[in-house]
Amino acid sequence: TPPAEKYEYQAEVSRLMDLIVNSLYSNKEVFLRELISNASDALDKLRFLSVTEPGLLKEAVDLDIRIQTDKDNGVVTIMDTGIGMTQQELVDCLGTIAQSGTAKFLKGLKDNKDAGGDNNLIGQFGVGFYSAFLVADRVVVSTKSPKSDKQYVWEGEVNSSSYTIREETDPEKLIPRGTHLTLYLKRDDKGFAHPERIQKLVKNYSQFVSFPIYTWQEKGFTKEVEVDEDPAEAKKDEQDEKTEKKKKTKTVVEKYWDWELTNETQPIWLRNPKEVTTEEYNEFYKKTFNDYLDPLASSHFTTEGEVEFRSILYVPAIAPTGKDDIINPKTKNIRLYVKRVFISDDFDGELFPRYLSFVKGVVDSHDLPLNVSREILQESRIVRIMRKRLVRKAFDMILGISMSENRDDYDRFWENFGKHLKLGCIDDRENHKRLAPLLRFVSSQSENELISLDEYVENMKTEQKDIYYIAADSVTSAKNTPFLERLIEKDLEVLFLVDPIDEIAIQNLKSYKEKNFVDISKEDLDLGDKNEEREKEMKQEFGQTCDWIKKRLGDKVASVQISNRLSSSPCILVSGKFGWSANMERLMKAQSV
Ligand code: ADP
Ligand code: MG
Repeated sequence: TPPAEKYEYQAEVSRLMDLIVNSLYSNKEVFLRELISNASDALDKLRFLSVTEPGLLKEAVDLDIRIQTDKDNGVVTIMDTGIGMTQQELVDCLGTIAQSGTAKFLKGLKDNKDAGGDNNLIGQFGVGFYSAFLVADRVVVSTKSPKSDKQYVWEGEVNSSSYTIREETDPEKLIPRGTHLTLYLKRDDKGFAHPERIQKLVKNYSQFVSFPIYTWQEKGFTKEVEVDEDPAEAKKDEQDEKTEKKKKTKTVVEKYWDWELTNETQPIWLRNPKEVTTEEYNEFYKKTFNDYLDPLASSHFTTEGEVEFRSILYVPAIAPTGKDDIINPKTKNIRLYVKRVFISDDFDGELFPRYLSFVKGVVDSHDLPLNVSREILQESRIVRIMRKRLVRKAFDMILGISMSENRDDYDRFWENFGKHLKLGCIDDRENHKRLAPLLRFVSSQSENELISLDEYVENMKTEQKDIYYIAADSVTSAKNTPFLERLIEKDLEVLFLVDPIDEIAIQNLKSYKEKNFVDISKEDLDLGDKNEEREKEMKQEFGQTCDWIKKRLGDKVASVQISNRLSSSPCILVSGKFGWSANMERLMKAQSV
């Protein structure tokens, strides 16, 4: 047999293993979730690749996951018939931490610490392969990739900075394809090798894995067996001629071991929405997207007709922290399946416009080809129709939150994703009608509570034609602007646009319910109370004064005029009708460094 070769872990791996073992000691059972999720990923990869390379399936083994336990020796073996790993992949995948699960874990750990959270939360993050060392002091991975004609065995021990890889030559141990991962449990963790314990954990952690998971279980059936007759009884029978001679039997339980299907393999989105509970939707969400908070809303639907697909969409409870939310739409938030086969979660605007990239969910299409590529997705008419429907459903879902009896729900949504919708006003003219009712603002009459445009319109004066707004950098400066004076006097409500993007969004919308948005800082503000007689008089009286001021100020102002817009301030600087508002000017200045 070829000798085992020794390899050193990348330095970060050893540190990471320490970290995992030390922060998850009270949550050890997550190891099973992680290893099953890897097995499921490996099966997904195989199934996906086999669409274009049917040869990969030439080893006619079923796509499934099997977990065998040996409670006497404290051994658990997790077997899959997935894509396996080549020798090089063993080094790359199990010797370095370039992989996503572990990277996410580190980030989760940090966020959680920053938020002062408890360690239990960490169990919700993907921690990946190394979680095996939470319960095992030795891990053996025997794996066969269809890309290689050799099978390799990776072996590592807890608290060690190195591992070994050797070729498998024992004919008894050769497998056609996939991975067998064997955990030799730590002394105190041998309980995980109890078949009932494993079964319970699988049910708990893997109810949404779409491949069958079998566990090795002891079974029994009852059987009638003949027993030797008691001589005394036999004699009695003989005496009584009329009693029919009957053989005596007794019931015994025959024990044997067999594989038992342990999870429900029908994907939740294929079930009847009426039969799925909110808890199930939330669980599915948290397990699929590695989130630890329940979503704010979900929507499960089927579309028929021109294109057929099923989908469950979710609005997360919070926006991802950091700058990777709006700008980076490659969020892996939408998982596309074709007839239950996972195809991709790598989208960039194909299924949702970028500003809606915070929506998470699964989409299972009936009409797309299994070997659908990026290019096909971008060109496809089917995808365009799907996108339209998905967007509509997403808006319905958000509208649903806004109509919730609990106003906090939408406040929370708005706080997290309001910016996204404002971006939508700029990017997606087609959906202005759906976006506008979802916007929220503070106003001169509602400084602390956000109002909708509908609420504004309802509060309009009978003679009022326009929706008034003022852009400023804070509520305080909006409140103190002299532009407000006359409107306040007339009890007209003014929206305060205090987020830099507000003004651009509003200008893109132009109007709401046939009422134009009007900037009260612009030159020609008409409050419908012109008194031409008086204006003429004023012009005569102060015309010269204006000319004098204009002369003194020169190019600094475009013109100096008599105005009826103020009630207590003596003068005001306004923006030209066609120019930028003061706020926009500030914005543009801030941007051109
Ligand atoms: P992640 O699953 O997030 O990538 P893990 O640490 O769980 O991170 O796994 C690391 C990598 O090891 C996987 O990406 C995969 O390439 C490989 N791997 C782990 N388990 C298996 C398996 N059962 N079959 C094939 N490859 C696997
Ligand atoms: Mg993983």
